[in-house]
Amino acid sequence: MKRDSVADLDVTGGQQRAAWQRRDAPPVERLRTDLWSIPVPMPDNPLRYVLVYALAGDSGLTLIDAGWDDDVAWTALVDGLATFGATPEDVRGVLVTHMHIDHVGLARRLHETSGAWVALHPADAEGLADPDYRIRERAAKADRRWFRSLGASTEQADALIAAMGPHDTRSSQALADRLIEHKQSIRLPGWTVTAIHTPGHTPGHLCFYDEESRAMFGGDHLLPRITPNISAYRDPESDALGDFLQSLDDVSQLEVSEVLPAHEWRYRKVAVRVEQLKKHHEARLSEVLEAVRRHGSTVPWELAAELTWSRPWESYDGLLQIAAIGETAAHLGHLRRRGLVSVTDESTPRYRAL
Ligand SMILES: [Zn+2]
Repeated sequence: MKRDSVADLDVTGGQQRAAWQRRDAPPVERLRTDLWSIPVPMPDNPLRYVLVYALAGDSGLTLIDAGWDDDVAWTALVDGLATFGATPEDVRGVLVTHMHIDHVGLARRLHETSGAWVALHPADAEGLADPDYRIRERAAKADRRWFRSLGASTEQADALIAAMGPHDTRSSQALADRLIEHKQSIRLPGWTVTAIHTPGHTPGHLCFYDEESRAMFGGDHLLPRITPNISAYRDPESDALGDFLQSLDDVSQLEVSEVLPAHEWRYRKVAVRVEQLKKHHEARLSEVLEAVRRHGSTVPWELAAELTWSRPWESYDGLLQIAAIGETAAHLGHLRRRGLVSVTDESTPRYRAL
């Protein structure tokens, strides 16, 4: 993740931004008569909170995202709902922007409490259900293969698996009981929103567009300050960055009055943000291409340590390193699509400039 200038965006989440600067949690906010934003804390994470949106109608609530899966987060969500007289029993469904645990995490408890349906794009629903994701031993095996394909030695791959620690909550995450496709119009109590498939951060990332107010629930696709991690997750053949850039273009076709993101703060001027994000990745593509030229032939594992990151490479722990190496691989994969680098040895792809 990389920080960008927010000076050019029109910040509407003023209280959220002020709380961020104080290193504090923002308040629950009523954004319209039928819409609330509830910050749900994330443990030991620099993003600090995920913003859960509660959409109200006569026959109950729909949430956009659910929050991290632990007791502190659950209490914050329950308390947040209580500020406007609601309880988890009122939740009819959860629209999940993407499969990451800070977004889908509490969906399981909501489903168990009220029977709420859980909806995702098919690609992320499949990702959540994949035994190579849910079952710890299988996930470790798949990750080891992935790290080796990125150029890690066996020892480096094993060290990283150990550093990643247990991810026991994965096996208990909710499974989707509804699937949402691109451009699907979703009728909710009191609301109709349109799903916009915005792959990149994950293959099945969704934004939700309210045609009436033209507000965009942006998930992690359109954060105001940081660029979301774009990773060639376990698949060197994928073009996650190409997908992300296309998703940015798709969003900029829409008239968006305000972005309601899943982290940080609300803002206007989405077109400015889209341009900033594209510029960031073009600069990074140039930097990666230059580095490949210097090496003659290289692998993401080697290259990532030489690139510019928001903090010194040495200070990155295992998880941040793998995010950065995955991101480097995504840039290499996209340079390959653009015909600027070629690959030798498909099992551990080595990249060389053309
Ligand atoms: Zn997130």
